[in-house]
Amino acid sequence: MENYNVFQDFDQKLFKEEVARGTQRLNITGLSPSGESGDVSVRDKKSGLIYVSGSPVWCFQKNLRDARGWERFVTDVDETIMVPWSDPTIEWYTHVAIYRKRPDVEAIVHTHGLWASVFAAMCMDVPLDIVNEGLTGVIRCADYVAAGTQEVGAVTAEALGDDDCCLMGNHGAVFVGKDLNDAFDKALWCEHVCHKAYMALLAKKNNKN
Ligand SMILES: [Zn+2]
Repeated sequence: MENYNVFQDFDQKLFKEEVARGTQRLNITGLSPSGESGDVSVRDKKSGLIYVSGSPVWCFQKNLRDARGWERFVTDVDETIMVPWSDPTIEWYTHVAIYRKRPDVEAIVHTHGLWASVFAAMCMDVPLDIVNEGLTGVIRCADYVAAGTQEVGAVTAEALGDDDCCLMGNHGAVFVGKDLNDAFDKALWCEHVCHKAYMALLAKKNNKN
């Protein structure tokens, strides 16, 4: 990576613009209601470089929808810091931990959407059979670990396993895919499923009383 140049490589320009688009989309789609939480990343399979949202605090962003691209952070599965002047989102360890464990993943979205957060706040797996739609099993919820640590990355990657999504205890959720559109589709699907599961659990409980 000696010749790494953030301004001249065409692929790098595309990937940083993709990260900016994804970061903005977090707030626009309601998956970051505060406009300050959540982040995205993409992996360039050719170079192995991982492009991650920059820290909103460092970028002086009032809202993630202000992301422009220059503020992204670049690393790899060994956590090598490629752009020393850039400051990443605190959850960059979680993004890297997932890419390390899942060579098939090319994009990750970390959200604080309302309905996934309800189950995350309860540190509860989301039961899928109650939703019907032919679904079985659960969306797993990782144990609570303090945000922004390598440990939260490890437990989240573990809970994710080979699935497309998992919740992060007392925190939020992560979604993986072949690109950001794919990961966002899963995040929006999860909001629908968690909403429906919560309502169904409540209705079931009320019917028993
Ligand atoms: Zn978060």
